[in-house]
Amino acid sequence: MNLNDLNEKIISILNEAEIKEAELEAFYIIEHGMELSRPMFFLKKKDRVSEQDINDCIAIAQKRRQHVPLQYILGTQEFMGLNFKVTSDVLIPRQDTEGLVEEVLKYIRPGMKVLDMCTGSGCIAVSIAKYAENVQVSAVDISRKALEIARENAEANHVQVNFIESDMFQQIAQTYDMIISNPPYIKSHVVAALMPEVRDYEPHLALDGKEDGLYFYRKLARESGKFLVPGGMLCLEIGYDQGPDVAKMLQEQGFLKVRVKQDLCGLDRNVYGNMPE
Ligand code: GLN
Repeated sequence: MNLNDLNEKIISILNEAEIKEAELEAFYIIEHGMELSRPMFFLKKKDRVSEQDINDCIAIAQKRRQHVPLQYILGTQEFMGLNFKVTSDVLIPRQDTEGLVEEVLKYIRPGMKVLDMCTGSGCIAVSIAKYAENVQVSAVDISRKALEIARENAEANHVQVNFIESDMFQQIAQTYDMIISNPPYIKSHVVAALMPEVRDYEPHLALDGKEDGLYFYRKLARESGKFLVPGGMLCLEIGYDQGPDVAKMLQEQGFLKVRVKQDLCGLDRNVYGNMPE
């Protein structure tokens, strides 16, 4: 079997399972399974492939056929140009969240203390520690297993992050210039209707925002003021239909300059607010 045949075979396995971007995923599978770069993939299409490489790539495709997200099979996801280890204990970092990180980086100044609440893989905290100059980054999660992954991600990306195991603010004792959070925000009854990749494999703890999906925003709105310095900023990722509700919560808790920002598709995606000076 040559590389082209292997590629076609993987694409057909993925198509049978109705995986949407079969061609792209087939390339990722071969890239990973054979440790082959993209240019080599095209140069070697007519070359014979070893039994071992065929078996490795087909084994990945067979798992993917069960709708296990490719990121969990390969164990990695790129975020803000950095590699993050992912397992089923953490949410797979999303491209949407890069918008939040890019926006907060505009506000961060040297010497600031920043807290990432519900850090999961650590993607937000680690990227900020990597790209902002001279900031102290802390990151919280309730899940010890998630914190282990986040710690590995900080180490692998050569940054210092202070990780704290805590149910929201319970174990937090300091104040911060900025609190950032992409909390679980899917309504409980909607979780069951998500695509199988998400519903069956991503941690529900990281998805489920309880009955109306707003549970964690309510907590963040009520409690983060106590952990922000005067003028400190709260920066949230939200679901596309949560902008007005979350903005109202922040206003009711005394946040100023509350603003809802849209993502590249024009959907509400982030809410920002500041404590009074
Ligand atoms: N902060 C992490 C992320 O943005 C995890 C979010 C979560 O678990 N809800 O990917």
